[in-house]
Amino acid sequence: MTDNVWLQCIRCGERYPITEVVYRCDSCGGLVDVEHDLAPLRSRSGAEWRELFDFRMRSSEWPYSSGVWGKQEWVAPHIARGNIVSLGEGYTSLLHAPRLGQQLGIPDLWIKQCGISQTGSFKDLGMTVLVSHVNQLISHGVKIRAVACASSGDTSAALAAYAAAAGIPAIVFLPRGKVSTAQLAQPIAHGALVLALDTDFDGCMRIVQEITADEEIYLANSMNPLRIEGQKTVGIEIVQQLGWEVPDWIVIPAGNLGNISALGRGLLMMRDLGLIDRLPRLAAAQAERANPLYLSYRTGFRDYRPVTARPTLASAIRIGAPVSYERAVKTLSAFDGTVEQASEDELANAAALADRAGLYTCPQTGTALAAAAKLAATGTIAPDQRVVVISTAHGLKFTDFKVGYHRNALEDVTARHSNPLVELPADVAAVRRAIQDRLG
Ligand SMILES: *Cc1c(COP(=O)(O)O)cnc(C)c1O
Ligand SMILES: [Zn+2]
Repeated sequence: MTDNVWLQCIRCGERYPITEVVYRCDSCGGLVDVEHDLAPLRSRSGAEWRELFDFRMRSSEWPYSSGVWGKQEWVAPHIARGNIVSLGEGYTSLLHAPRLGQQLGIPDLWIKQCGISQTGSFKDLGMTVLVSHVNQLISHGVKIRAVACASSGDTSAALAAYAAAAGIPAIVFLPRGKVSTAQLAQPIAHGALVLALDTDFDGCMRIVQEITADEEIYLANSMNPLRIEGQKTVGIEIVQQLGWEVPDWIVIPAGNLGNISALGRGLLMMRDLGLIDRLPRLAAAQAERANPLYLSYRTGFRDYRPVTARPTLASAIRIGAPVSYERAVKTLSAFDGTVEQASEDELANAAALADRAGLYTCPQTGTALAAAAKLAATGTIAPDQRVVVISTAHGLKFTDFKVGYHRNALEDVTARHSNPLVELPADVAAVRRAIQDRLG
């Protein structure tokens, strides 16, 4: 099986065996991607793949009960069953949200609920593959003492959980004071070595790359393409859940730019293997305060400069020097893509509006919703187009954001949908008045 899949430099095309620990090309320093030999996969027609994937989606047989492993041949065919570490990732709901859609100017709006998962973010999709791959390497005698990552919160939560399930030590590097309490609690609870550094995410990323230059500590950031392979199932799953109909747009919040690259890879593989015959357009959504991709997009990607990411409520995408920048530009070019940004005020109000429609939206998803509404307002997204917004994390990880919003206490945000707590004496008349005031 290892002949069907290998690592390949995205710049010069140099190939490395899938079993080699390599994150950047030895020849040119480019990132490496996992590449698959499509010839053996063509032994099934597009229709047969669709049928097989649909059958597995209804199956409770392990490991097909996972949305990632239900597509193993496309993701990581080299991993032996016994090495798979799954916590039931994938197969998250795709919700139709017409009421919210009307308010955002996107009548046919759908939300892919990636945050409703084991550790509360889409990072589970990639981490199940990465940790299973490490298990596979260890079982083949490769010496790996620990897995490590830099994180804006969710990556460390996912890594710590999957490493705990596998019994592999984990080390996580967090920017001190810059992740939510819920996100900090997760890796602590799972027994990881949690290092809070006096820097930002980009600073943590630099240090983890130094530490993992020692091959016995394995790098778990999305710079590592094994993560991308798992995350690419989200695009496949969206189309599958729409009865194999391709939406017009998929909008996704973007920070380190691994996830948008992954989304594109899954969709391209579906087209190349004949499951679909057209591609959606993609939109990357960035916080205005951490917007290097947006700034580069505005120059037609001719000019790119990392920025110093400023504090933003969308802390999981507070990234100024995205590792997968080159991957993302390739993806956006292949999908006639666009990049939009959202201010603090825009992302917070979009999240609150979504909550009013029954969602419970993290600030990153708020960024994507705000960006989608802006694209609809300028006509880039037409009113008759079907739009899927990827919700990347669970709102429950961002309680301070919610509480702050409804107290109208967030900096640079005018909370237009705030719903302040009503505190009353235990008095029936006062309660009646409060109800009367609200219901009119
Ligand atoms: C990691 C993350 C993102 C950004 O994904 P990238 O691959 O870094 O672009 C967006 N939202 C949430 C909640 C995340 O945890
Ligand atoms: Zn190279």
